Amino acid sequence: MKPSPSRKRRRGPLTQDFELLASRYSDFATEWSSVSASSDNNDHRSLASKSTPSFQLSLTRALLDFHFSLKLPSLPENRLCPPVPNRWFYCEWILQELMPSLTNPNHFSTGHRVQNVGLDIGTGASAIYSLLLAAHDTKLRMLASEVDPISLASAKTNIDTNNLQDRITLIDVGQTYNTSCNVIRGPLLQALEEKSAATEYLDFVLTNPPFFEENPPDRADGRARTPMTQTESIYSDGGEVGWVLDILRDSLTTRTRIGWYTTMLSKKTSFVKLKRILLDFLGPGHVRSTELEIGSTMTRWFLAWTYYRPYGQTTAVETRRINFDVQGNEGAAITLDKVADRLKTYCTSIPGWDLACSKDTNTQKESVMCLELIVTENNPSIPSSYMVEEKAAQLPDRVSMDMSTETLSLTAKDWLPAEGHFVMRFRLVVEQIGSSEKQNAVKVSVHAYGHSSHGGKAIEKILSRVEGEVTRTNRRWRRQLARQNQQQTSA
Ligand code: SAH
Repeated sequence: MKPSPSRKRRRGPLTQDFELLASRYSDFATEWSSVSASSDNNDHRSLASKSTPSFQLSLTRALLDFHFSLKLPSLPENRLCPPVPNRWFYCEWILQELMPSLTNPNHFSTGHRVQNVGLDIGTGASAIYSLLLAAHDTKLRMLASEVDPISLASAKTNIDTNNLQDRITLIDVGQTYNTSCNVIRGPLLQALEEKSAATEYLDFVLTNPPFFEENPPDRADGRARTPMTQTESIYSDGGEVGWVLDILRDSLTTRTRIGWYTTMLSKKTSFVKLKRILLDFLGPGHVRSTELEIGSTMTRWFLAWTYYRPYGQTTAVETRRINFDVQGNEGAAITLDKVADRLKTYCTSIPGWDLACSKDTNTQKESVMCLELIVTENNPSIPSSYMVEEKAAQLPDRVSMDMSTETLSLTAKDWLPAEGHFVMRFRLVVEQIGSSEKQNAVKVSVHAYGHSSHGGKAIEKILSRVEGEVTRTNRRWRRQLARQNQQQTSA
């Protein structure tokens, strides 16, 4: 067998080139030839229906070695064999998108001190996520919790074989899990309360939940389900939705002790439901999501939330972007200041809203050809839906039930950016039209960032008339102009 590629080759999409893998890995070659002999050439559906657990395992082993130089010696019969592409997709999303956002001052105004520690809840017999993350990032330490003793033993073999025992700590939650006590603890607190966890802060939590509430029905297409044990596939308290709600409940206790709380989801209905709950509860600045299509038949959804206070203008909550030009009357030049004045006059006079329009001093450029204005709300109000009891009332009962007022005591300050429910940025740039210096236009680009439904209403209100007010083409300006013209002609 050729030497395995250097660890540098891990990045980028994982190979789908089975011939290449077969040329390197004899076990995979054997499995691949028997599967491909019994399926139509290149028909992935046909391949999926013919693929056997031993084919899947040989593929997982080949991909782990080829891309990550990882070995997977142990996978007891009937334990979940992890497909590498979607597991790696999830890891990359956390490392490349979620983690950097925590320390990016454009995303969160409270800087997170990076710990280089993550928690993998329900690591399984493979310990797949912990292996991938620790092998990929040599700074990272992982905690890996599991309840099933056979999977724990198997995970230990896999971790030791890859010599990662110093950076991956297994947490046996069997005890905590089985102890009945008054405090309700979900899978997150169960892991953190074990002595072996011994950590105060974490950068992220990830989990691939037991998907089902009860034994799943047969697949519609008649294909066999991936072999799984009961604890791997079933969370009797609500399946994957219940699992995530229990982690959400736990997260009300741990809050900013952990940077990002994340989960994989197998059903779109679970994703939509949980995302709605998180958006209503924390607001869009605190929630991220993505999805992965696997082949033509399967999708996985990924959802994350954080308790760090978002920055007003994060791209994740950019709701609207519009552009328009303002020209002077009858070809006369128009100045930046004039457009800025019109904008201020309009924004500060909208009935029912107490808005402020100020120059953005942070980005004030030397150039007089460009000006940035920021529109926010003076003394952002706190609608009742941001009060403690109201917030808690929005949560499903199982999350808020029996929680102390202290745990639930959240104030608007915790949820909203310092700027309030929304921020709008107006960028004004002068542009010459044609050859005459007198003929110019001011190009206005507007970026709107909404952090709550209240903020969304402000944005809609401002955008509904802003262009006509600033270009003076709204009806009242046209009428005024007509009156002026009339007066001039009659004079
Ligand atoms: N992470 C693996 C396995 C996911 S299956 C993978 O992605 O392939 C879900 C895992 O969670 C199972 O191994 C199951 O035994 C484990 N589990 C169930 N309840 C748990 C709990 N309360 N704490 C930790 N692990 C648990």
